[in-house]
Amino acid sequence: MNPVAIITGGSRGIGRGIAFELARAGWDLALNYAGNRAAAEQTRGECISLAQRAGKAVQAEVCQADIGVGADRQRLIAFARAKFGRLDLLVNNAGVAPEVRADLLEATEASFDRLMRINVKGPYFLTQLAARWMLEQSAAGMPPAPFSRKIVTISSISAYTASVNRGDYCVAKAAVSMLTPLFATRLAEHGINVYEVRPGIIETDMTAPVKEKYDRLIHEGLTPIQRWGRPEDVGKAVAAIAQDALPFSTGEVINVDGGFHLRRL
Ligand code: NAP
Repeated sequence: MNPVAIITGGSRGIGRGIAFELARAGWDLALNYAGNRAAAEQTRGECISLAQRAGKAVQAEVCQADIGVGADRQRLIAFARAKFGRLDLLVNNAGVAPEVRADLLEATEASFDRLMRINVKGPYFLTQLAARWMLEQSAAGMPPAPFSRKIVTISSISAYTASVNRGDYCVAKAAVSMLTPLFATRLAEHGINVYEVRPGIIETDMTAPVKEKYDRLIHEGLTPIQRWGRPEDVGKAVAAIAQDALPFSTGEVINVDGGFHLRRL
């Protein structure tokens, strides 16, 4: 039996990169998306062919749900239950940037509320639902197979980096960082490890509008590893965690940022 993962925002970008790496490793996938069904279907198809090429047979299904909406979160969990009947991994990846990069002195409450709803409240309460289901599986004597159950949240270097033209995004990413130590502490006794993966500058639709700026900064040495990150860089980290590469670590932050976080002199 294949292990099963839910990936929020699995249609494009980093979520797609995570889906590809897990599919190659033989995971069944519930791929959540917000509105771009065509992208989600494309990811689904490519997951199945990548798995086949790796000699695995996987099932991948797509599910529209706005993770910032309670009823949608319930529906996503119900969908995964109906399709797969088990859950081994939740990847909280879906997230949005502000619609307008506005200065700290000008940015609106509406933008703040949107980012807190999608980037913080969404993963927080989806984790609550997923954790309850994982505990229910343990209580029913369903063994985790073949890896222990886990929760991984994709945050950002913005959790600790001040960008004054998107303070709402930074505040939301700092807030969602706290999810990991909280759930790691609560769930350790149940054998569920919880991790934060903290990407740096990754080439996706989210960063496309600022590509030239980041091209320049990377060229000037912003990151010790002098290139853009790719969705597969994050996917490989999540796949390693998912497959028990860090069994005696929980509540950890894994930086996938080309060394951006290193202080240098
Ligand atoms: P992206 O290319 O813009 O893709 C966003 C994904 O999230 C899409 O799959 C989108 O679905 C989904 N999504 C958006 N709002 C949603 C909602 N309310 N409910 C459910 N799904 C929703 O972004 P990305 O660059 O891959 O970013 C993925 C995550 O990594 C985000 O949490 C982001 O903050 C974080 N991150 C990104 C970078 C970077 O440099 N790119 C760096 C650090 C952290 P649709 O396709 O249906 O729109």
